Amino acid sequence: MIRERHLFGPGPSNPYPEATRALAEPLLGHLDPEFLRIMDETCEMLRTVWGTTNTRTLPLSATGSAGMEAAFVNTVHPGDVVVVAVNGLFGQRMTDVAARCGAEVVAVEHEWGQPVDVDRVLAAHDSPAIIAAVHAETSTGVRSDIAALGAGKGDALLLTDAVTSIAGIELRADDWGVDIGYAGTQKCLGVAPGLAPFTINDRAFERRVEKPRSWYLDLGMLGGYVGEAGVTGGQRTYHHTAPTAMVASLHAGLTRVLDEGLDAVWARHQAAGDALQAGLEDLGLELFAAEGSRLPELTTVKVPDGVDSAAVRKELLESYDIEIGAGAEAYAATVWRIGLMGRNARPDAVLLVLAALKDVLG
Ligand code: PLP
Repeated sequence: MIRERHLFGPGPSNPYPEATRALAEPLLGHLDPEFLRIMDETCEMLRTVWGTTNTRTLPLSATGSAGMEAAFVNTVHPGDVVVVAVNGLFGQRMTDVAARCGAEVVAVEHEWGQPVDVDRVLAAHDSPAIIAAVHAETSTGVRSDIAALGAGKGDALLLTDAVTSIAGIELRADDWGVDIGYAGTQKCLGVAPGLAPFTINDRAFERRVEKPRSWYLDLGMLGGYVGEAGVTGGQRTYHHTAPTAMVASLHAGLTRVLDEGLDAVWARHQAAGDALQAGLEDLGLELFAAEGSRLPELTTVKVPDGVDSAAVRKELLESYDIEIGAGAEAYAATVWRIGLMGRNARPDAVLLVLAALKDVLG
């Protein structure tokens, strides 16, 4: 028997009960008409949470990192200049993925904990093919201004990581000029890890690599998988076996989110994050992310001098079944990451984690 944990780290979060229950429903075949209906509705609901009307919006059958790979492998032509805003681990990962796809990467480095400096990113190159940035940097707890990048992108394509922002904070892909976006299910969407909600607009699709080096993530072929009218006249073609249980679970999670309403869900995350951050400061702790750019769904807080970061996390897990995250990379011992995402963005979760931390810190 696995003990139930409070997943208050950087992800996965505790899924919405509806999403968990859906995993126990009878399994459907991947071409069953009932499954195709679920897939169609899932893509439609994903359009809503992305804030897009893009036809090509679908859950890729892999985690957020595969979304990142799909984004670059389908759009980077060898030698393309790709400007990447790097203000944390996931921006860094983008530079690696883009380089592997043959890009000439221009990395615009930032101090960790700071938001993306839009002017510096836009000035980094005269005519990049792609500008890439992470909306919500999970490694540092920072939100960046994607709309401003979109407003200044010129002819470049704007590629955005929304893994930790989707269904947690305001996200309006079309209004903000996002051409290619990928996300994950395991954070604010409140579903287990395993799918990467993905969206690409016509402008980016027309510029895509005809035969990308990844067969599995080839968006041209995936059009048939979701029954894209232009590819197959709306008929489904077999590409790979859809993870039907996971798609059904995502469908349930999205239904839960949209029944509550996106505005209400964003407000709930904001309220939980504000309360947590105020409570941490009341405990005498110092927040890590730059003020004004703090994510509500993922809070970074400095480990007080003389406190053993790992020992505190261990005690929280063992005494309270609470998981919080260590800091990323160089901040592993000096920062904690506390996520209140999806179902966990609630006042009772705020009180629980604050009380437990207070107890463990003595
Ligand atoms: N991008 C961001 C901002 C993330 O937080 C994560 C995961 O934590 C990823 C990408 C990678 O996603 P995954 O771990 O699901 O492959």
